[in-house]
Amino acid sequence: MDGAANADVDVVLADTHGPILGKAQPAPNLGLLYLASYARERLPGVRFHYLPQRRRREDHFALVDRVKPSVYGISFTSYGAGIAYSLLRELKARRPEMLLVAGGAHASAVPAEVIDRGGADVCVIGEGERTFVALLQHRHELEAALPTIPGIAYRSASGVRTTPPRALIDEIDEIPLPAYDLAQRRDFVGISHRRGRPNIEMIVTRGCPFRCVFCANPVFRVDGPLYRARSPECIAREAELLYRQGYREIYLHSDELNVRHEWSIDVCKALAALGHPDLFFQANLRVAPMSPRLAEWLRRANFWLVRFGIESGSQRVLRGIKKKMAMEQTEHACRLVAGAGVRVFGYFMMFQFWEEDGRLACERPDEVEESLRFARRLWREGVLHYSSWMFAIPVQGSELYDLALRHGMIQAPFVPNDAWDPSPYVPGVTRTEFSALYRRARRLQAMMALRAGGFELRNWRGLASKAMTALRGANANTARNVTPPPIGSAAP
Ligand code: SF4
Repeated sequence: MDGAANADVDVVLADTHGPILGKAQPAPNLGLLYLASYARERLPGVRFHYLPQRRRREDHFALVDRVKPSVYGISFTSYGAGIAYSLLRELKARRPEMLLVAGGAHASAVPAEVIDRGGADVCVIGEGERTFVALLQHRHELEAALPTIPGIAYRSASGVRTTPPRALIDEIDEIPLPAYDLAQRRDFVGISHRRGRPNIEMIVTRGCPFRCVFCANPVFRVDGPLYRARSPECIAREAELLYRQGYREIYLHSDELNVRHEWSIDVCKALAALGHPDLFFQANLRVAPMSPRLAEWLRRANFWLVRFGIESGSQRVLRGIKKKMAMEQTEHACRLVAGAGVRVFGYFMMFQFWEEDGRLACERPDEVEESLRFARRLWREGVLHYSSWMFAIPVQGSELYDLALRHGMIQAPFVPNDAWDPSPYVPGVTRTEFSALYRRARRLQAMMALRAGGFELRNWRGLASKAMTALRGANANTARNVTPPPIGSAAP
C-alpha cells in the first residue's frame, strides 16, 4: 500500500493513566505496541503515538489537541475501567470527529457497557491486530463498514451491535515484533523482582488452555485452540534484539511457559545458545508438567526466577477453583526448580469462591491458615523464595464475576477494586479476622522478599502499598469500608 495515502493519519494508542491498584507500570503495553507494528506493515505512513500509564490525564488531551489523531485507541483492564470511561467521555467532548476505540480484557468482556457508559465508539473484542487494521482501512466509510468487520461491538442508531467473532491469528510468529521505538524506558519502573537492569517484558505465547474460576482469561475464548506459541527461534531473535538495545533481563510473558513441555525446553535451549551470561530471564510456569530436564534447562538458559500460580494450600480449594493441579505437584515442582538453583515465586489467592450444585462455596479461614503454613514450610525448606498474597476479586470475564452477581456479592455495573470486601460472604469470619489473616499473609510476603532481595526500588509506590497492607491488613479502603468509586468517577 502507498504510504502517501496514509500521510495525514495519526493514531494515538494509550494506557489509562495510573497507578492502577497502587502499582506503577513495569513495562510497555505490548498489546498496543503489537497493534502499531502490525498496522505499520499494512498501512505505511500512518503515524503512531503511545501514551503509557505514567502520562497524566492532561497529557492525553494535550497530545490529541496537538496531533489531531483520526483514531484514539485505549487498552485497559477492569481495574482501570473507571479512569478509561472518564477519559473517553472528555475526549469525545473535545474532539467529536475522532474515532474512540477501546480494547483489552475489559472491553472484550463487557463491550456494551464500555460503549454505553464509557463512551467508546467501537470495542475490539479479543485479539486486536487484524481488527484494528480493518478499522483504520475503513476509516473513511466507517458507518457502512462496521457491520462487516468481525470482532467488534459498535454504537449504532438502534443501540450497541456486535459482529461475529474474529478468528485468531494461527501463526503468531508472523506478527512483527512490537513497535518498541514508541516507548521510552524512563516511563516504566521495571519488573517488581529482578536481577538484571534495565529489564523489559516480551510475549512468547498467547492464550491459556485452562479455565480457573477467578481468572478473566475466558474473555478471549473463541472456537478452536486459544493457546498458541511462538517458535523458539523467533523468541530468541527478539531476546537478542532487546539485549542489543541494552536490556539485561526479560520477563517472558506467557500465562504459563510450560503448557508444552518439550517446546519450553526448546525455548530454553534457544535462549542459552545466545551465549549472554549477563542476560537474565524469568517467566510464569505451571507446576506441571515439570521435570529435572526442564529445571536444568531453565538454569542453563539463565532463568533466575520462576513464578508458579500456587493459589492455595488446600486441595479442596484447588479443586473448587478448577486449578487442575495437585498439592504434591506443587511441592515437587518447587523442589526441582529450586534444586536447579533457580528461585521460586508463588502466587497465592486467599478466600476463593466457587459454586457446588448451584450453591456458593468458599475457602474457609482454616484453609487460608493451611496455605500460610504450606508457604512458610516451603520457605523454611529453601524451595520457595518469594510469595504474593491477594484475595479473589470478581473481574469481568471470569466465572467468579458471574457467580458473584448470581449470589448478590456485587451489583452490576461493578468496577473491580481491592476495596471490595469479601468477608460478608465467608461464613465464620468477621472483617477484623479477614483483615488480620490478610495482614499475616502480607507480612510473610514482606519477610520473604526482604530475605531474598532483588526487588525493584523504582517501584516504590507498589512497595509502599504492600507495606501498608502488611501493617494494616486489608486495603486501607476496605478497612475503612469505603465503597468502590462509581463507574466514570474522575480519576486524579
Ligand atoms: S489462572 Fe493461569 S492457568 Fe488459570 S486460567 Fe488464568 S492464566 Fe490460565
